[in-house]
Amino acid sequence: PVRTRFAPSPTGYLHLGGARTALYSWAFARHFGGTFVLRIEDTDLERSTPEAVQAIIEGMEWLGLSHDEGPFYQMKRMDRYREVVAQMLEAGTVYHCYSSPEEVQAMRDRATAAGEKPRYDGTWRPEPGKVLPAIPEGRKPVVRFKNPLDGEVTWNDFVKGPITIGNKELDDLVIARPDGTPTYNFCVAIDDLDMQISHVLRGDDHVNNTPRQINILRAIGAELPEYGHLPMILGSDGAKMSKRKDAVNVMQYPAEGYLPEAILNYLARLGWSHGDDEVFSMEQVCQWFDGSHLSNSAAQFNIEKLNWLNNHYIKQADNERLAALAQPRMQANGAVFDGAPALAVVLGLLKERTNTVNELADAAMLFYREPQPDAALLTQHVTDAVKPALADFAERCKTVEWNKAALAAMIKEVLAAHGLKMPQIAMPLRLFITGQLQTPAIDAVLEIFGRDTVVARLAKFL
Ligand code: GLU
Repeated sequence: PVRTRFAPSPTGYLHLGGARTALYSWAFARHFGGTFVLRIEDTDLERSTPEAVQAIIEGMEWLGLSHDEGPFYQMKRMDRYREVVAQMLEAGTVYHCYSSPEEVQAMRDRATAAGEKPRYDGTWRPEPGKVLPAIPEGRKPVVRFKNPLDGEVTWNDFVKGPITIGNKELDDLVIARPDGTPTYNFCVAIDDLDMQISHVLRGDDHVNNTPRQINILRAIGAELPEYGHLPMILGSDGAKMSKRKDAVNVMQYPAEGYLPEAILNYLARLGWSHGDDEVFSMEQVCQWFDGSHLSNSAAQFNIEKLNWLNNHYIKQADNERLAALAQPRMQANGAVFDGAPALAVVLGLLKERTNTVNELADAAMLFYREPQPDAALLTQHVTDAVKPALADFAERCKTVEWNKAALAAMIKEVLAAHGLKMPQIAMPLRLFITGQLQTPAIDAVLEIFGRDTVVARLAKFL
């Protein structure tokens, strides 16, 4: 059965790249009717925090990437790791190494001086017939993995194709520290084994860890998962993404007014393709995501494309949902909703051209505050030539049928009666009713404000 996992280290927040890894692992599991596991890799005690765990879980929830098992915490699995270390010592696949950190450093320096890769020189590695040094008094050993000396590790990466690393490149890895705590690669290998992970999908910053983890799993006699390493996401400038330049924390996106379906769609396409499709639902992604068509080159973050998708999903979104999302921001900006047009209706009118919910909320503000038109603009637009027409319009407002079509027809009559052009009357009306010149079509604005408000605001100025 297919079992995938997302295994973040909780040292900050859910990173955009991490969210993509999570999405792909999730979609892959869903595609095959498998299981998606969440594992928290919290063994770095100095950098891991409970807040970061919360932030990651919150980010996944916002995206709707639900896990089927977990979260499992590595810190809660220490007994299990110790147990495997003990079994491996018993089996002779790992060994105690009593070299001091200084001695190990000296070995590395010697190798470097000889033009070789810095490495542990195998002093404490047991071999048939080899006599090991005497154990230094009072020194606690680390446990090292007996990496094969020859041959190579090959796997068929389902993103990058076949990858081969010579065992000569690999050191005898420390798998447990002097105090017995296990190290990173060991924990990951044992977790993937115990959680019966069939497919490991992760960032390609882990490519160098994979042969180590494979060797550990082989030494235990475990079946290997398949591995796929995703190229990283580059920032909009083509360099590494950084929080200074780009929004790398997934939870910045809801704060800036992005919908989760836009982020998911965007991330799905950022490193994977399905023909020429640009817009797809998560149902479709799950239906199509079988591990093929994953891109082997780094993807570049492109905010215009994300904005285009967000606009697409805003247009599709239920107006009541948009209203619930926009309201807190508008409230904070002083919007008065009492007696004002229904927010969902206003957003429905405005959403066609907005990239984010925040933009939409800001555009909607004109319906929820007292108009305070600029005096100079009033002087410019409300000339003596148009005043009689405006008065005529105000009078007709009291009796005209209140809908867009009837209002548009009435405006036409007023224009004809006074020999004016549309902007000559539309601009003053915009100023009177909304306080600004930039608004949606005047008939739509009038309709939404309603007769009472329009009549009252005109009366104030005329
Ligand atoms: N914890 C690792 C990270 O956050 C991921 C390890 C893995 O997926 O194997 O980068």
